[in-house]
Amino acid sequence: MTLKELSAGSSARILSVGGEGALRQHFLDMGVIPGAEITVIKLAPMGDPMELRIHGYELTLRLADAEKITIEPIPKKPEEKTEKRLRKPPHPGLGETGKFHPKGSGDPLPEGTKLTFALVGNQNSGKTTLFNQLTGSKQHVGNFPGVTVDRKDGAVRGHKNTVITDLPGIYSMSPYSSEELVSRDFVLDSKPTGIINIVDVTNIERNLYLTMQVLEMDVPTVVALNMMDELTGNGGSVDVNAMEELLGVPVVPISAAKNQGVDELAAHAVHIAQYREKPLKQDFCSKDDNGGAVHQCLHAVMHLIEDHAERVGIPLRFAASKVVEGDKLIIDQLELDENEKEALEHIIVQMEKERGLDRSAAIADMRFSFIEKICAECVIKPRESREHRRSRRIDSVLTGKYTALPVFVLIMALVFFLTFNVIGLGLQQLLEKGIGALSALVDSALTAGSVNPVLHGLIIDGIFEGVGSVLSFLPIIVTLFFFLSLLEDSGYIARVAFFMDKLLRRIGLSGRSIVPMLIGFGCTVPAVMATRTLPSDRDRKMTILLTPFMSCSAKVPIYSFFVAAFFPGKGGLVMTGLYFLGILMGILFALLTKKTVFRGEAVPFVMELPNYRLPSPRSVLQLLWQKSKDFLQKAFSVIFIATIIVWFLKSFDPHLRLVEDSSTSILAYISGLLVPVFKPLGLGDWRICTSLISGFVAKESVVSVMEVLFGGESAAAVMTTLSAAAMLVFSLLYTPCVASVAAIRRELGHKWAIGVVIWQCAIAWLAALIVRLIGLLFGLS
Ligand code: GDP
Ligand code: MG
Repeated sequence: MTLKELSAGSSARILSVGGEGALRQHFLDMGVIPGAEITVIKLAPMGDPMELRIHGYELTLRLADAEKITIEPIPKKPEEKTEKRLRKPPHPGLGETGKFHPKGSGDPLPEGTKLTFALVGNQNSGKTTLFNQLTGSKQHVGNFPGVTVDRKDGAVRGHKNTVITDLPGIYSMSPYSSEELVSRDFVLDSKPTGIINIVDVTNIERNLYLTMQVLEMDVPTVVALNMMDELTGNGGSVDVNAMEELLGVPVVPISAAKNQGVDELAAHAVHIAQYREKPLKQDFCSKDDNGGAVHQCLHAVMHLIEDHAERVGIPLRFAASKVVEGDKLIIDQLELDENEKEALEHIIVQMEKERGLDRSAAIADMRFSFIEKICAECVIKPRESREHRRSRRIDSVLTGKYTALPVFVLIMALVFFLTFNVIGLGLQQLLEKGIGALSALVDSALTAGSVNPVLHGLIIDGIFEGVGSVLSFLPIIVTLFFFLSLLEDSGYIARVAFFMDKLLRRIGLSGRSIVPMLIGFGCTVPAVMATRTLPSDRDRKMTILLTPFMSCSAKVPIYSFFVAAFFPGKGGLVMTGLYFLGILMGILFALLTKKTVFRGEAVPFVMELPNYRLPSPRSVLQLLWQKSKDFLQKAFSVIFIATIIVWFLKSFDPHLRLVEDSSTSILAYISGLLVPVFKPLGLGDWRICTSLISGFVAKESVVSVMEVLFGGESAAAVMTTLSAAAMLVFSLLYTPCVASVAAIRRELGHKWAIGVVIWQCAIAWLAALIVRLIGLLFGLS
């Protein structure tokens, strides 16, 4: 029978794994290999995908993929009560270094060589947390697989002349997603002097799978066992000495979040890099394993390709296992001739025959058998951790069959309500008052000092009106980011991806795309970057093109401005409506492109669900500080300059004479050219056109420019409620700002970036026109 038919709560042994290519390799790398035991935990609320436990961790799989896996059910075993737990761990201390691996002192690198480290580990293993502790920097930490998308560099605190690079999280060194390729190429090409391999001990089997491939890369490595606090807190422990002996590299237990053991880790890393202490072991196959077929095959291949691997500079053992796995990229790099390829093929086919497994499965199985040995010898598993029990309880509501969707809608509604109606709004009004008072103070001071009226105008009508109006939105934006980061850090968004997968597949995407889109509510730039974790090109493109439809936080000032002027008291309603309109348009756009440009299936959805964790206040505060800083910088650079330029252009006429009435200014002249385009929307006023153009630089400046241009006069003089509605819809949908377009260009290239600008404007124009026509139909004007 197939895995699809297995009911929730029952277990089975895997007989075979179907499918092909990179995808199948990915399944194998995630531990879905013949012989492994697998348990179905539950189905997502909409019946698809399913959540499974294998090798002690949980992952999600779609039914369509589960169908390719054949299984044999095994009866429920009675709960084992292991007294092994009582064994006193011989090596309990966090941060204690092992005793098996003494620090050597031979063969050091020349004095003054820069030590470069790569931080390699699974997604969500705590890499960024550790990176921040090691370097003292403030990168964003998230509890979602795939938050780190760009690599970051920093020096190790207290060690001069060091650089450490936080690489994206990966599960294996096979080129399944672009992340895996990036990380692998980083190690192969830039040849770091050392690798810090971070291992989440609460998921040790899967994490060690990567470790074994890291060790094959023949670079000095230290293994950091992270989350020791969670393991020991629940009665587990690790015999570090024994593990060091089995792995042949220093192993340091740490807790990155609590900053325990990090200094020892740094000391060890610097040492092994300085003294070029390569892993003592790479040979994890054994001639006693299942008749030794894999062992013989790997060694035969190693001998055969030794000269090639040396010539092109790929570590031999790594090259050999990739050749056996059938990794095309590595095989091509090795430049083997036909004869050699044929010889290799014979060796591998012989192995497949003797082992009874195909090549990829045989290698994955070899690795997992070794890992099982390590775990049996050195790891005392914890009881079901408190965190995990708690997660399960929370999950029974948050991903429950009937509760998941309503709770999601409720949570999002609450977030927006608190942001736009309560916390954010309250803080904003406070800040507005402050700015108003300051502005009045400066105004009277300038008048008292009888300052030049032009300068006076610039300061009060230009800078205070413009920058001040934008500045007052800081609290709303920070509050929104606060909630988004809370959702993400806690692990909830991973669940959203899980139960939204089925819906998203209808529009041609997978659950994973939900993350970039939710980030898009904050800002399009990080949203576009977050798509890098999506394993298929098609999904990535589609998701990127959808993010501009998600109403970013910079548009909030625009909404508030018009709500205050035209829809007083209906703020929450109008805002929510706009957010939903954006999502709706995105869905329509996706459906349209799915049928045309992006034909094909969304990629499989294999993802792990992390435990719920309370985000650390430090990481949340850091994020808020970061966002505030970004916003303030933008307000005082881009928007400041844009405000001054606009003020200048509206205060002078083409002959550079100060104008009385800005409708004769340079600006009115230029923007007047666009007026006919916006006339059908009811927005045929040059001041509105100008503000929309300036929105291309930064969306917030639409408001600052309006303030400057309308001055004391109210926008209501030239606009009706209907044209304000058209304006809102246009602002929601028209081209994303320059920074976002640049991000899109970086990911997809020129053509797509220009395309986005053009069609977003066209869609916005059409949508606004429709709004106007409907309004006219109902007798509004
Ligand atoms: P990355 O995806 O590998 O960069 O992982 P992050 O650094 O973003 O961390 C993932 C999650 O693990 C976050 O929620 C962290 O707060 C949490 N975390 C990291 N290190 C530890 C640790 O030592 N102990 C515990 N209990 N949690 C940790
Ligand atoms: Mg990270």
